[in-house]
Amino acid sequence: MSAVLDLTRELVARPSVTPDDAGCQALLGERLAAAGFNVTPLRFGDTDNLWATHGSGAPLLALVGHTDVVPPGPLTEWTSPPYEPTIRDGQLYGRGSADMKASIAALTLAAIDFVRTHPDHRGTLAILYTSDEEGSAANGIRKVMPWLAEQGLKIDHALIGEPSSGQRLGDRIRIGRRGSMHCHLKIRGVQGHVAYPQLARNPVHEFAPALAELVALRFDEGNAHFPPTTMQIYEMRCGTGANNVIPGELDLSFNFRFGTASSEQSLRGQVEDILRRHGLDFDLRTRVASAPFLTTTPQLIDAVVASVRAVLGVETVQDTGGGTSDGRFIAPTGAEVVELGPVNASIHKVDECVAIADLEPLEATYRQVIEKLLV
Ligand SMILES: [Zn+2]
Repeated sequence: MSAVLDLTRELVARPSVTPDDAGCQALLGERLAAAGFNVTPLRFGDTDNLWATHGSGAPLLALVGHTDVVPPGPLTEWTSPPYEPTIRDGQLYGRGSADMKASIAALTLAAIDFVRTHPDHRGTLAILYTSDEEGSAANGIRKVMPWLAEQGLKIDHALIGEPSSGQRLGDRIRIGRRGSMHCHLKIRGVQGHVAYPQLARNPVHEFAPALAELVALRFDEGNAHFPPTTMQIYEMRCGTGANNVIPGELDLSFNFRFGTASSEQSLRGQVEDILRRHGLDFDLRTRVASAPFLTTTPQLIDAVVASVRAVLGVETVQDTGGGTSDGRFIAPTGAEVVELGPVNASIHKVDECVAIADLEPLEATYRQVIEKLLV
């Protein structure tokens, strides 16, 4: 059995449901320390984080990942238990196998192998793992970044092992992510008796034409790196519970996924325009949960693209799709951020799995990226 399969299995066997690390980082920290890394466990609140470095100075390449996993869901639906790593038909099954314990194992072993062959490499090779990426993300990379700044450390390149691939390993990398903005809208009417609508103002009826416009609106056309912004309503509430009362208020929650073609202000402005044009009495609150980010300088992207080509024989696609990632906390410090990891078809699902044939090539690809940047 290969070392990377072995280590992936050891990690999957630890039920590290977010934010519980379940001993994954202790295991990895031991391996890294034995290879000569300086290992610093960083616990913030309920979350274990691991910072380990080899070498010093710039450039600082950080290999980034999370040891936590999402809950397994109904155990009876799993073909084999989620924390019993099981091999079937060339796949390794288990919660976290693809998201992202295979990457964690591959990143760790690539780093260890690199410093063994290049003990005097230039710059700093760093490992940055957290255990709250899948949860609140409050005490993970968000807290580590200011800690690094206090130590006078700045990440130049961050290679994140998130499962970025679509059909086959390496066919897609992420060079940025869309932002996410939450909106809460209250439409005020006047409560009354359904038999006397002339004495009330029904907020649902007043809002209906504005709602039709809102859901039909194209907020932007996207740009070279981001698809057009999308908006989805996820909650709508009104009513008093009585069938003879016109409600006095309507509450609506919706979420934007947006690229750099829009901003909080521009999206908010477009929503307010529609509401005003329809003469609505409203209150709109917006909150950006994560800003969009995009790596525009070529060093890390070029290193990853060339390594994917050389090791995997794949011409990769540079993409900004998907949800958000911990890259949102790293990119604002000026770091280049690229995500490369296994096929994401089974992530967060029952019977999550990773192709065993992809594990060694993934490690070799990471290994080559490190080499391109630190030799
Ligand atoms: Zn993940």
